[in-house]
Amino acid sequence: MTTIRLVQGDITRESADAIVNAANSSLLGGGGVDGAIHRRGGPAILAACRDLRASRYGKGLPTGQAVATTAGNLDARWVIHTVGPVYSRSEDRSELLASCYRESLRVADELGARTVAFPAISTGVYRWPMEDAARIALETVRETSTGVEEVRFVLFDEPAYEVFARQLD
Ligand code: ADP
Repeated sequence: MTTIRLVQGDITRESADAIVNAANSSLLGGGGVDGAIHRRGGPAILAACRDLRASRYGKGLPTGQAVATTAGNLDARWVIHTVGPVYSRSEDRSELLASCYRESLRVADELGARTVAFPAISTGVYRWPMEDAARIALETVRETSTGVEEVRFVLFDEPAYEVFARQLD
């Protein structure tokens, strides 16, 4: 059984086995939660991402996939980087967003992570409407069979928290 918890706050302050990063496909960092994770996690995360680019992801990490690195100075064992889809009104990319959660949990299972903290993937610069993103996130986690005991959604602000809380009910 996986317990779903919601908290409001900064994901870089969380303690968990794995913290999920809403990365971009370059794996070289960016704004939003990605920038915050690299800032607080320190240079070891970027060094590990560069190694991944050199070995497996020369063309970048594809949208919907996930890969783990060290968590550097964060209070976690791993950062799981996943690339969310940019929201589109003309094309349904829900399956790619669901894949981010599914693949992150698959990687977490491979690592043996018991607690995983997720941000609201794609809801920042990638503009996915929070209501719909929350529905996809919660449905996908509920429908995925995983050894992860606690999935924690860390919502950056009160409105995002409220949207997730309504959807969870
Ligand atoms: P994306 O490119 O996937 O949209 P963003 O980082 O721009 O990624 O935004 C994803 C979500 O993460 C947004 O809801 C944003 O408010 C939130 N966010 C930004 N910084 C943090 C943080 N430090 N902790 C948790 N969530 C954050």
